[in-house]
Amino acid sequence: KAGLGSWPERRRAMSPGRDALWFEGRTTSHGEFALRVRRAASALAGLGAGPGDRVAWTGGNHPSALETLYACGQLGAIWVPVNARLTAPEVSAVLGDSGASVVVHGRDHGPLADALRQPGVRWVAAEPPVTGGSESLPYEELLAAAQPDTRDVPVELDDPCLIMYTSGTTGKPKGAVLTHGNMTWNAVNQLLGFDFTQHERTLALAPLFHIGGLNGTVNPTLLRGGCAVIVRGFDAAETLRVIEEQRINSFFAVPTMLDAMAREPGFHSRDLSALRTIGAAGAPVPLPTLRTWLDRGVTMQQAYGMTEAAPGCTVLDSADAERKAGSAGKAVFFTSVRVVRPDGDDADVDEVGEVIVRGPNVMAGYWNDPARTAEVLADGWYRTGDAGSLDAEGYLFIRDRYRDMFISGGENVYPAEVESALLALPEVMEAAVIGVPDERWGEVGLAFVVAGSEVDAGALRARLRERLAGFKVPRQFRFVDELPKTATGKVRKPALRALAGVPRE
Ligand code: AMP
Ligand code: MG
Repeated sequence: KAGLGSWPERRRAMSPGRDALWFEGRTTSHGEFALRVRRAASALAGLGAGPGDRVAWTGGNHPSALETLYACGQLGAIWVPVNARLTAPEVSAVLGDSGASVVVHGRDHGPLADALRQPGVRWVAAEPPVTGGSESLPYEELLAAAQPDTRDVPVELDDPCLIMYTSGTTGKPKGAVLTHGNMTWNAVNQLLGFDFTQHERTLALAPLFHIGGLNGTVNPTLLRGGCAVIVRGFDAAETLRVIEEQRINSFFAVPTMLDAMAREPGFHSRDLSALRTIGAAGAPVPLPTLRTWLDRGVTMQQAYGMTEAAPGCTVLDSADAERKAGSAGKAVFFTSVRVVRPDGDDADVDEVGEVIVRGPNVMAGYWNDPARTAEVLADGWYRTGDAGSLDAEGYLFIRDRYRDMFISGGENVYPAEVESALLALPEVMEAAVIGVPDERWGEVGLAFVVAGSEVDAGALRARLRERLAGFKVPRQFRFVDELPKTATGKVRKPALRALAGVPRE
C-alpha cells in the first residue's frame, strides 16, 4: 500500500502529535487527521463510494477538501475537485463527464446543490450552507456517526487518485487523470526543490480545487509531517495578517496575488520573519514585484507546470531570479523537459519550439477520452502546447502558447468556450475573443462582436454571466462590422491582436 491514502496513517505512526491542519482557530494533529480521514472514508463508503467511484468536491478552501481527497485514496475512489467559481451548467457538465455519485460542497454552494440535485447522486454539505442546500447531508454528522474505516483496499501507484478538469464546457470537458504515483512523485520533486522542514507551516491560499493550490506546497508539507494553515480564499490584507499570526514559512500563489499583497500597507508593517519562501507559477513574476518580496527577505521559487503534470515541471531557484529574469527555470529532479520542432527533433539553443515533459508526475491521460489523450501523450512525453526555448545553460523560457488560451487571475480561459457562449445569444452574429494584458488580473478577455441587433456590452456581459464563470466573461467589448478572416473563413486572431494594440512578436 503506497498510495496517497496511506499517507495520513504513516504520519500518525511517525508523528501523531505534530500539527497537520489549522483552520479558523482549530488545530488538528496528524493523529487526529488520520482518524478523521478514516471516518470520512467510512462515511463516503456508506454513501456507496467504492473503488473506482468518483467523489466530487467543490467550495472555498476547507479541511473537507483534504479529508475527502485522502479518504478517497483509502477507498480506491477517485476525487474530483470542481472549480467553485463555475456556474451550475458548467458544474453539471463536469459532474456528468466524471459520473460522480457523491458531491461534497462548501457553505456557499447550497443553491448549486438545489439546482443540480438528481436521483443517484448524493450531495453532502461540508458546512451548514449559508442559503439553500437544506436537503444536503451534513458532513460533520456523517463523520461523527461513522466508525473509522479499517478495510485495507489495495491501491497501487498506477491507480487513479483524482480527476482534475482543465477546461470548460464547449463540447466535452477535459479531465486530467492523476494517479497516486503522480501525486507521490510530484510531492517528492517539490520536497527536493523547496527545502520544506519537518515543522513546515504552509499556507493553503490558492484554491485546493486547482493543482497548484493542492500540490504546490500543501500535499508536500503534509507528506513531510508539517502543517497546512487553511484560509478560505484570497484577500491581500487578510493573507498578510494570517502569515504573521500563524508564523507561515511558505505558500504557493499566482503572480497576481503577490502583486496585490505587495501593494497592501500591511506588506511593510506585518511581521513576515517566519516566511522563508514562496512558490509562484502560472506566469513569470514581474521583476518589480519579485524585487519587492526579495527586499522583505523572502525567497521566490518560480515554477512552471500544468494540471497534466501534477503540476511541477521546472523551477527557477531564487538565487537565479534576477540573473535569469523571465525564465521558468530548470527541470525538477525526476522530470525531463525538452523543446522540440514540429518534426519532433530537439530545437537548438534559444530556438522556440513546443515544450514537452516526461516523468512519473505526468498524467495517465484524459478521463474517458483516448482521442484527446493520444493528441498530447506519446512515449510518455506530454505535449504542453506551450511555446518555449532553452538557453545554453538549460534554463527554460516560456514565450507563447500554441493553443488558444489565456490566463486571468490564475484561471485558464479558453476563447472557444466564450465565443460559443456569445454565439448562442440571439443578438450576436459573430464573435471572437482574445486575451489582453491587464494590471490587476494579468490578462482579461476582449470580445470582438458583430451584432445583428441593438445590444450593449453591459447586456452581453450579464447574459454571459448566467452561463459562464465570472473570470471567463470578457471585460471589454468592441462592436465591429466584420471580423478579419483568412481565405478559408477562419478568424485571424493576430489581426485582432494588432487591432487591440497587443501584437505578439
Ligand atoms: P493549467 O492548465 O491551469 O494547469 O495551466 C497550465 C498552463 O499555465 C501552462 O501550460 C502554461 O501555459 C501556463 N504556465 C504555468 N506556469 C507558467 C510559467 N511559470 N510561465 C508561463 N506560463 C506558465
Ligand atoms: Mg492546461
